[in-house]
Amino acid sequence: MNRATPAPREAPREHRGTSDAQVFWTVMLVIVLSIVGIALQLAERLQGASAYSDLVFWIQLVIGTMILIGAITAGPLAIRVMNQRRAATADADNSRKQVEQLFQMTDMLQSSMDYADANAVLRATAEHLLLGFGVALYVFNNSRDRLDLSAAWNWPEDKLPPDTVAPSHCWALKRGKLHTNRAGPGSLRCAHQDANIVTTEIPMMARGEVHGLLVVQAGGQDAETRLDVASHMAGAVADAMSLALSNIGLGEKLRTQALRDPLTGLYNRRYMEDVLERYVSLAQRTGSAVAAIMIDLDHFKRLNDEHGHAVGDAVLREAATAIVGAIRQCDVACRYGGEELVLLLPDSTLTDAVSKAEMIRILIEKLSDVHGARISASFGVAAIPETTTQVSDLLGMADAALYKAKQGGRNRVNSAPRPSNSQERYDPESPGSDSRRLMAPSAVIRRKDVG
Ligand code: GH3
Ligand code: MG
Ligand code: MG
Repeated sequence: MNRATPAPREAPREHRGTSDAQVFWTVMLVIVLSIVGIALQLAERLQGASAYSDLVFWIQLVIGTMILIGAITAGPLAIRVMNQRRAATADADNSRKQVEQLFQMTDMLQSSMDYADANAVLRATAEHLLLGFGVALYVFNNSRDRLDLSAAWNWPEDKLPPDTVAPSHCWALKRGKLHTNRAGPGSLRCAHQDANIVTTEIPMMARGEVHGLLVVQAGGQDAETRLDVASHMAGAVADAMSLALSNIGLGEKLRTQALRDPLTGLYNRRYMEDVLERYVSLAQRTGSAVAAIMIDLDHFKRLNDEHGHAVGDAVLREAATAIVGAIRQCDVACRYGGEELVLLLPDSTLTDAVSKAEMIRILIEKLSDVHGARISASFGVAAIPETTTQVSDLLGMADAALYKAKQGGRNRVNSAPRPSNSQERYDPESPGSDSRRLMAPSAVIRRKDVG
């Protein structure tokens, strides 16, 4: 989509004013000289002092009058032509500036890491190029069933843009082209817009896909005319923005793929290891607690064998959803491997973590009713500094506690024992507290053929 950029007029520059004055004074000089020449001829004639014949006199008079008429008519014409040229030059200048701003916007958008960056660039540019208009940017959510408001400014206080837009309610998205919601009866209006608001909506397309929606709003009597004039510029801004949105979306998808397990949507083990290292070093600095819960679905092989792998996958997904719904935002849930999951709970005591595990155990057990099969999980809980002072032992202790839960009959929560020597305190300076040792694979006891 290529749209030309309109060019609002700007004030003439100083040097152009000077050349207008030169033309004006030249014309005035010609007019004055012509008048003086004619007057002299007439004076001479009236005084009878002319040395010329009648024919020469009349020729001079006619030529003088023609010069006078020519100067009087050509003067304003010349000034009008100069004004037009000046306006055209100003327009060209303005267009050049706008194109430069669009290029600058595209350039900055290429460096945008996320939607917040892109919004900032859009705002900085649109505040120049769409001066005096309200602007709103919508971006598709992950499931692509609606667009969420990403940024908005300069809208009337009593008619703020909606937080979400359903594609089926938007004529611009349905038609795949610019649509103006005009005021008054008989106009085709998007259902998501307030009845009294005039907007132009532009779908933002790149790589054959719609990535967002740019909405430009105007108020006042001439709102529709102003929007019509600005629609080319808004289209150019939307075009510049859409490729950036596509790139950001692609980047986020890749980042998610690198961090998350595709089946459950939980973080992967590599990410969890990074987070654990961060949480532990924070705990070392501040003396705060960190708890770990290891979860293993019970008799999962049997579930697969009896009900099929697809049911096994569904149970894993639903267990993950239940877990994510039960934890805080700062907690990290990860798929450790197979049907084993790990939760990291910063600022959480052993008791807090055990009750959280118990809550999740009940939620997972409830999946039995949904699938008509016995579904449960066993839990092992450990915490720094309560069950271990050695950060490298945290996951190993949680795993050992889980092993005991399996031995004890499954579908239960077991916490790691507190150290018998209650005098032992968490010592960040202790060599064993090196967070880099925390995730040493050997620290985790592998459970084999339990019960
Ligand atoms: P236990 O109670 O002792 O943990 O028994 P279990 O059967 O759960 O343990 P085991 O280690 O013997 O078997 C784990 C099973 O989990 C085997 C494997 O097929 C299944 N599994 C691992 N990952 C997936 C997955 O992504 N989807 C499905 N459907 N099954 C999986
Ligand atoms: Mg297992
Ligand atoms: Mg298992």
